[in-house]
Amino acid sequence: MTRPLVPALAADSRLVLDEEELRQWGIRFGQAAVAPLVVTLSGDLGAGKTTLAQAICAGYGVSDAVTSPTYALVQEYLSPRSVVYHIDLYRLESEKQLTNIGWDEIVSGNGLVIIEWPERAGERLPPHVPIALEYEPGDPTRRILLAG
Ligand code: ADP
Ligand code: MG
Repeated sequence: MTRPLVPALAADSRLVLDEEELRQWGIRFGQAAVAPLVVTLSGDLGAGKTTLAQAICAGYGVSDAVTSPTYALVQEYLSPRSVVYHIDLYRLESEKQLTNIGWDEIVSGNGLVIIEWPERAGERLPPHVPIALEYEPGDPTRRILLAG
């Protein structure tokens, strides 16, 4: 198992959270977020990236249901505060595809941008707030959240 991209100072901000606690953390993060902002969520499949993205969106004021953008790569939502892009690069096939989904405009725009599988964007990842999720060994109900 490869270790997800871990934020530089994360050892100081390592939380072990059950699903409800993770949602609450995400809601508070979303309430505090000020756009323009890019947030990356790294971690293995099932680690809780989409769950956290949904909570961040809810806290930010998105009232529509936030689904997994795995097939579309990008889903756009509206909050009273700004546009929100939820991007999942798991199925990214080429750098050209990044360009085609409007990557450059999205990450340099005025919205809140939440990116799953950010490492797949390589050099094209802009400055961002990194958040990583890991499985807690021996406890399937908890995840470790590492934030910057
Ligand atoms: P990812 O987007 O990283 O692939 P998802 O958020 O889609 O992950 O799925 C996470 C799964 O793990 C969900 O089925 C969720 O119910 C479950 N889960 C169990 N415990 C937790 C936890 N502490 N935090 C987040 N999700 C959890
Ligand atoms: Mg996901």
